[in-house]
Amino acid sequence: MLNEGLKKYGIDYQSYLLLKAGIKPVIRLTIGENLQKHFEKFCNDLNLFVSIKRFNEIYNQELKVPVFIAYISTSEILAEKAYYAEYNANRKELGRMLGYPKCCVDEYVNRLLNKNLDYMVDCLLKTEGLNSFYCNFLFNFDSKLNSEGEQILKNNREIFERYKIYFLIKHIPCNFNCKNSIKLGEITFKLLKDELPELTRKIEFVLKKPILYFDYFNWIIFDGIVDGNELLYKQILPIKSLFPADKLKIIKKCNMIRCLDNKIFVLKNERVVLNMNKEYGSRGVIINFV
Ligand SMILES: [Zn+2]
Repeated sequence: MLNEGLKKYGIDYQSYLLLKAGIKPVIRLTIGENLQKHFEKFCNDLNLFVSIKRFNEIYNQELKVPVFIAYISTSEILAEKAYYAEYNANRKELGRMLGYPKCCVDEYVNRLLNKNLDYMVDCLLKTEGLNSFYCNFLFNFDSKLNSEGEQILKNNREIFERYKIYFLIKHIPCNFNCKNSIKLGEITFKLLKDELPELTRKIEFVLKKPILYFDYFNWIIFDGIVDGNELLYKQILPIKSLFPADKLKIIKKCNMIRCLDNKIFVLKNERVVLNMNKEYGSRGVIINFV
């Protein structure tokens, strides 16, 4: 099965379909040295060109262990272009080669100046109007983690690995209502629906649900509706995060979250059952995706 082959090398189906449709110029991924020969054959069998390059340093940072990056494209020129963009630490050009909207790439480059920025919260703060589910990148960890985050992901891979298929855009949008990202998400949705309708329905179902969000690894997804700073819910989706189990158990038995400036209240039939302090200022927000 094609999907299984792609998975084996860490290529998501969404990116593959966009590449084949001529919308995404290049797919970029890191690849183990021992897999290279097999991977080259796999790409060639799919009529794709692949260029694998060794990096001893990246974005002016020396690497302890060299990394091998594969640039996959229908065109050799485009694959090489993506490599040179990365080699020259030109993030804006690389973003363009990966098919990401310019507005989002520019914003991403600005955001890199702040190492501890939470991209989800920053996107929410920058959003005017509705948060589009096409722009929900909760499950996509690419490009958003600092070294501390990388370590947490590494230690909990078995939890987060299984959700990484839930996305319709691969990049971090400039905000949750970015028109260019929504357009790209819609195209991805259509392509994926033709190939894997059941999975596509599931992705839509999950991405459209409201989230009580704390950080990249701590969140709860609800089957419920949001009204201002309140979230009225029937149940919690069985999608695990690192949110503390004892608190989650209480929240499961309740039916409303009220999010204030410094506190979050959990209520059952209007009666407060649990209150949580917002430990890091804005951390602990309701994000309502539609
Ligand atoms: Zn954008």
